[in-house]
Amino acid sequence: MENYTTCTWDEKSDCANCSIAGKLACKWDKKILTNFHLINWTAIVPAIFGMIIIGYITSNWWILAGYIGYFLFMFGFLEIRFLCSHCPYYAKEGKTLHCLGNHGAYKFWKYRPGPLNKLEKFMMNFLIATMFFVIPISVFGYGITYVLINYDGFGLITLLGLIGLAATNFIAANSGLNTLKRFYCPNCVNFSCPLNEVPKENVDIYLLNNPVMRKAWEDTGWKLN
Ligand code: SF4
Ligand code: SF4
Repeated sequence: MENYTTCTWDEKSDCANCSIAGKLACKWDKKILTNFHLINWTAIVPAIFGMIIIGYITSNWWILAGYIGYFLFMFGFLEIRFLCSHCPYYAKEGKTLHCLGNHGAYKFWKYRPGPLNKLEKFMMNFLIATMFFVIPISVFGYGITYVLINYDGFGLITLLGLIGLAATNFIAANSGLNTLKRFYCPNCVNFSCPLNEVPKENVDIYLLNNPVMRKAWEDTGWKLN
């Protein structure tokens, strides 16, 4: 597997005659990567900002530290195993990941040409739910409750400010996820991600271009049309 690459990285790929050329984000493109980061950071910055404010209000800085630790552990280590290691971009030689999302991460894990299994898909959904919704909403809930309990010391402005920030965070996380699903997931070559929406006929053509991937997918029961 060490020397295997995908048509995404193969400079000799016959893209000019490929019927799905232009339908997938199958070649590295800095513009796509930049936009991907913009979408994700727009979704996550209000949560981090809110945790800083709540840290000031409650003097509980462990919440912010825990969230940043979770972020680094997930995107820098575990997500690379359950999601990225199955992506055709991961097949490139070398220890640094070059891709349209987690670009620049260290490749702790070997490349896995087959699709994500059920546990890995669950982990991907779990990551999105916790990172963008469950943790930030719980933290805002904690902050608002704290201000309500200590209302005499904080007052209405602090309370309304925190509620406004919680609403902004929720809207930003939702619109970030919707933008990702609308503009990225329908073209993404990590086909077995639970959010992926590439039509099966295009997945099949990509697999026909990539025999090692094709075999790994067929070994798990995938049928080409
Ligand atoms: S699927 Fe492969 S061969 Fe087809 S356009 Fe994309 S990189 Fe080129
Ligand atoms: S399908 Fe969407 S969420 Fe999944 S790896 Fe691709 S861009 Fe990311």
